[in-house]
Amino acid sequence: MPVLDPEQLTGRTREHVRELQGLHCTLQPDAARAFLALRAAAALDGLQLAAASSFRDFGRQLAIWNGKFLGQRELLDRDGSAMDRALMTETDIVRAILYWSALPGASRHHWGTEIDVFDGGALASGQQAQLVPAEYAAGGVFAKLDRWLSQHAEEFGFFRPYDRDRGGVQPEPWHLSYAPISGAALAALTLEVLGHALTGVDLAGAAVVWPQLGEIHARYVRAVAAPSALALSAPLNPATRPS
Ligand SMILES: [Zn+2]
Repeated sequence: MPVLDPEQLTGRTREHVRELQGLHCTLQPDAARAFLALRAAAALDGLQLAAASSFRDFGRQLAIWNGKFLGQRELLDRDGSAMDRALMTETDIVRAILYWSALPGASRHHWGTEIDVFDGGALASGQQAQLVPAEYAAGGVFAKLDRWLSQHAEEFGFFRPYDRDRGGVQPEPWHLSYAPISGAALAALTLEVLGHALTGVDLAGAAVVWPQLGEIHARYVRAVAAPSALALSAPLNPATRPS
């Protein structure tokens, strides 16, 4: 199984990922093969599995973080409503960013094993996926996809690390992770590796972040669902799996 090095774990290189032509999707080759197999199986059940987001590099995550801290991007509450930053301390702002966005270097999307998915076929023309929990809940536009993923994603090696509120990242039913690689990546992304990636970086809110880095690592990196044995043992190339 490929083991990611510290540069790859923190998104400071893209040498571990490839773009899937026409799918708006950039992943590690093994994860990409598994995603294509998952997508083909979903299509047989009438779902058009599409990627809203896949690999994201450190620079992109840093731009998102700094934009939110500096007020160039909206801050959203746990329920998705806009927050009034005039009433917030820098510590409050950091906490609010972390509801929905990872610290640069700490995003699972750096690994090339993570995909945010939606059902392109369920959207009316001109309608966009919002990636909010209500879309994936019973009665939501992606409720069928949510049920299908619960039944089938693990057969292809995928699981949902943000399955419920564990005191850190909010539940993200759209976020799939390719367990055969991401399990090892999580273990390898230590506090030391994260701290090294952030050293010397122009990070907005750094004075608040650095003293809390250990807690942020524990709550927002480590506190996720564990993949099942089925997801971990998915064959590297599902296309060759006997059916
Ligand atoms: Zn995601």
